[in-house]
Amino acid sequence: MRKKKDSNNSIQNKMLSELKSKDLFEVAKNYAFQYLDETETRDVYPSQENIQKLQDFNEILPDESSKPEDIIKQLHTLGTLGTVNHTGGNYFGFIIGSATPVSLATKWLTDVWDQCGGLFVSSPINASLELVCEKWLKEILNLPKNTVAGFVSGGSMANFSALAAARFHILKQQGWNVNKKGLSGAPKIRLITHNQIHASIKKNLVLLGFGDECIEYISSDDEGRIVVEELPILDNSCIIFLQAGNANSGSFDNFETVCEMANKAKSWVHIDGAFGLWVAASKSLSYLTKGIEKADSWALDAHKTLNVPYDSGIVLCKHATSMANALQASGDYIIYSDTKRDPMLYTPEMSKRSRVFELWATLKYLGKNGIDTMVTSFHERAVQLAEGLNKEGFEILNEVVFNQVLVGLETDEKTTKMLSSIQNSGKAWLGGSLWKGRTVIRVSVSSWRTSYKDIVNTIELFKEAKKDL
Ligand SMILES: *Cc1c(COP(=O)(O)O)cnc(C)c1O
Repeated sequence: MRKKKDSNNSIQNKMLSELKSKDLFEVAKNYAFQYLDETETRDVYPSQENIQKLQDFNEILPDESSKPEDIIKQLHTLGTLGTVNHTGGNYFGFIIGSATPVSLATKWLTDVWDQCGGLFVSSPINASLELVCEKWLKEILNLPKNTVAGFVSGGSMANFSALAAARFHILKQQGWNVNKKGLSGAPKIRLITHNQIHASIKKNLVLLGFGDECIEYISSDDEGRIVVEELPILDNSCIIFLQAGNANSGSFDNFETVCEMANKAKSWVHIDGAFGLWVAASKSLSYLTKGIEKADSWALDAHKTLNVPYDSGIVLCKHATSMANALQASGDYIIYSDTKRDPMLYTPEMSKRSRVFELWATLKYLGKNGIDTMVTSFHERAVQLAEGLNKEGFEILNEVVFNQVLVGLETDEKTTKMLSSIQNSGKAWLGGSLWKGRTVIRVSVSSWRTSYKDIVNTIELFKEAKKDL
């Protein structure tokens, strides 16, 4: 017994002295700054050789406590060989986005606070800033005053939360309490969408007890937008899924028309706007989101277009009671606040990182005009790329309404070859996709760092790669 107690004391003392001296944090800070300074010169994607070196992490878990400086050093020297450099200006894959400096600094500071954001009582500051962000988001996206927001890990969880609220609401309209009775024997819910909807919607429907075969798919047009004329007659058993930003073409569904039809029929409309809904904050692009305020719920990602660090999704919902009912939890020890807003009523999680700090800081730092400028710049760079590539004889396969550019060569083989040649250059990284049965190069502009010059260089990469074909 005694020995055990002593060894615990020794590690406790070790940690106390680490906190006191701060050396460890100085070491981490210096490495972090070095990484930041190398953002422009580092390869955008790690080489195969460097990825291979990550095997060195495959160690035996040590018996004894390690030196913390060595741990941090190992991450810096070995770990960074395997990082994807998407915080720079030349990463165009997956709509990943960069991070604003103020959001990184905020993350550092508030990581030290380590706030558990589930309840008001577990972190008054988190609950308070969630309310502020909720208000600001409604303002910049122009959503109804009664909308509530939940701050979740990403677009997938935002979609999940909204669909849970929709399921509760639609069944309640038909006299069925899904929280008590479950889905078995429940009145039918009609799930309506088009065949270009994001995989996250399907995944979440499965998680919520619906199979893919329960979805009524209607067609989408050439740009991947819903064909409104194909909508069936709607009623109060329908949930319709629309998209603000097709993950390939970047296109936006016709929200106004669909929402008006749905509102009359008491159907629920959910808009998955993970990266695209942010254009509502851009004066020149907000025409794309016309009518979104007539929907019932919305999902978006701050970690994509808004360039907040990862782990930042937002669900917004016009029916606060349905949302809180769908995501409720009760337990003798849970202390809900009578007068304050408890974050966990709006998210699937109970304990959660207080992730709203970085969002709050970025919104405040950019301001309405700065958000507009950043979001609009992604469009401007995408148009620059599409026009530049077009001039060089490349075929652009989509209408560049926002930040997405789809490039296709004469054959799928050539496209695949060209894509890997650019990826292997380490100078830029683009994704691949399938668009209308064709293999395409998919370029997403979503980093505040991407400059006019970066696009010029990327066009050069295409030209060089074409020569090598
Ligand atoms: C990225 C994305 C999602 C999923 O969001 P995550 O943050 O990756 O969970 C859902 N829908 C669309 C349209 C997306 O672009």
